[in-house]
Amino acid sequence: MRRWNGWGDDTIPYHLPANAPALLDEWVGRGAPPRDVTPDEVLAAVPPSRLPAHPLVSAEPGDRLRHARGQSLPDWVALRSGRIPVFPDGVAYPQGEADVAELLAYAAAVDARLIPYGGGTSVVGHINPPPGERSVLTVNLRRMNQLRRLDSVSQLATFGAGVAGPELEAQLRARGFTLGHFPQSFEYSTLGGWVVTRSSGQQSLGYGRIEGLFAGGTLLSPAGALRLPPFPASAAGPDLRQLLLGSEGRLGILTEAIVRISPLPEHEEFHAVFFPSFAAGLTAVRQIVQNRWPLSLLRFSTPTETQTTLALAGHERVIGLLETMLSVRGVGGEKCMLLCGFTGRAATIRETRRQVLDLCHEQGGVSAGRRFGEQWIAGRFRTPYLRNSLWELGYAVDTLETATTWDNVPRLLEQIEAALRGAAGDGERVHVFTHLSHVYPQGASIYTTYLFRLAADPDATLARWQAFKGAASAAIVAGGGTISHQHGVGRDHAPYLAAEKGALGLAALADAARRFDPEGRMNPGVLFSDE
Ligand SMILES: Cc1cc2nc3c(=O)[nH]c(=O)nc-3n(C[C@H](O)[C@H](O)[C@H](O)COP(=O)(O)OP(=O)(O)OC[C@H]3O[C@@H](n4cnc5c(N)ncnc54)[C@H](O)[C@@H]3O)c2cc1C
Repeated sequence: MRRWNGWGDDTIPYHLPANAPALLDEWVGRGAPPRDVTPDEVLAAVPPSRLPAHPLVSAEPGDRLRHARGQSLPDWVALRSGRIPVFPDGVAYPQGEADVAELLAYAAAVDARLIPYGGGTSVVGHINPPPGERSVLTVNLRRMNQLRRLDSVSQLATFGAGVAGPELEAQLRARGFTLGHFPQSFEYSTLGGWVVTRSSGQQSLGYGRIEGLFAGGTLLSPAGALRLPPFPASAAGPDLRQLLLGSEGRLGILTEAIVRISPLPEHEEFHAVFFPSFAAGLTAVRQIVQNRWPLSLLRFSTPTETQTTLALAGHERVIGLLETMLSVRGVGGEKCMLLCGFTGRAATIRETRRQVLDLCHEQGGVSAGRRFGEQWIAGRFRTPYLRNSLWELGYAVDTLETATTWDNVPRLLEQIEAALRGAAGDGERVHVFTHLSHVYPQGASIYTTYLFRLAADPDATLARWQAFKGAASAAIVAGGGTISHQHGVGRDHAPYLAAEKGALGLAALADAARRFDPEGRMNPGVLFSDE
């Protein structure tokens, strides 16, 4: 069963290696395991629902608790401490468009706010019910998870928007296709959620971001339906898909999405290359992507992230042998790991791999072969489970991300890490590390992880997080990065959006939301403030 207050399936543990407590101690100090509340304690605090009964709406406290928060660090603090100020008044699980239309009509009749809910994997406060007088209905789309049409001639698939990653891929794979969209939250996040948060999958270098994969679909809004056909291209004025992409539930409920699919690849392999310095690897990565070679993944870690990954890998003997081999070949303490993914025809992969490894070699890169790459790909959806184990030892982990142009990547990366280090108050320390997760010919995304100790009081943990998040977000905005490359805006990034869009741009978004949702019913407070 899915954990109600953490990540993933509760039957799947994440075993930290034996050296982890000592490493954590060295990085940030000894953690004190928190006392988390039990589900019964939280359930007892769920207030009565303010919604009148409706056959599609559950007012069960268990349903309402499971939809009260997402996966951001403040969400974890709330769920683990039981300090949850607002619960949705009800949760609905529509089975089709008719149910969604019925729920929109019901919400209008009872003046409820509506929160569309995909997999609840938001890490920026997208699905948290707002406080206020008006009741809140969360609409979970998970029952709308079917493949409705597969046009193998045009390579288009139509799905119910609530389909989660594994269900979507299984339905396509059975027919010889893939979407190729693999965010790390793949296990639970949904197609609708990906579209409206402008998500990016780990192999976006090969398959593209969701913006490119989303061909059309249907949005049901309080003002009516918007149906977008899957034209391969069009010059018929502004592309309304762009309005839906990133709309974060403000315009209505995406009930159906049409996506561009690819035949299953003939072959796929993942390699690790280690560089003697960040600068050398950065040059190689930029050149590879600017050569437009057909890779599906490039993921490049700083020295600290490389050391952290190797230290927590748990295979001390193998890592020791690797480090000896690398140091003999001139790759020492500042080593940086690059993961390269090759996906496609076997002959093309052979040629691309040769070109990529030659180019890496010119920058001092040493190939470690397929072992680390294959291990990473095999465990890529397990890494988030680490957060559960660290929390239980008394540590919080959060991530943040941005994107900027190549000329600015090293500077902005430094500024973000420095801002985080500078925000650790009270004699506390923070362990910060970064990788470039997605690369483009013009620039890259910067993905930073930071780890710190939980405070004895959950509110103090929250204050620590606010200091880190505020400092890093300010550094991103001031340093010329976007406030989000892939996680979206939600509530946590909303205060920074004006700096990026400008007052006119933000006002235009708010005007569009009013056109679709004149009563301000849809997910208020997300994306932009409603004041
Ligand atoms: C461990 C972890 C790893 C992650 N890795 C990645 C990653 O690699 N790449 C990435 O891009 N993101 C990642 N994320 C962030 C998150 O998974 C994405 O933002 C994802 O797209 C959210 O999808 P969801 O279905 O869970 O949406 P939810 O969290 O349920 O909702 C997110 C927003 O979308 C709206 N929404 C959802 N479905 C619909 C719909 N059908 N119609 C209208 N609005 C809707 C909601 O109202 C809300 O505003 C990660 C999160 C976690 C916790």
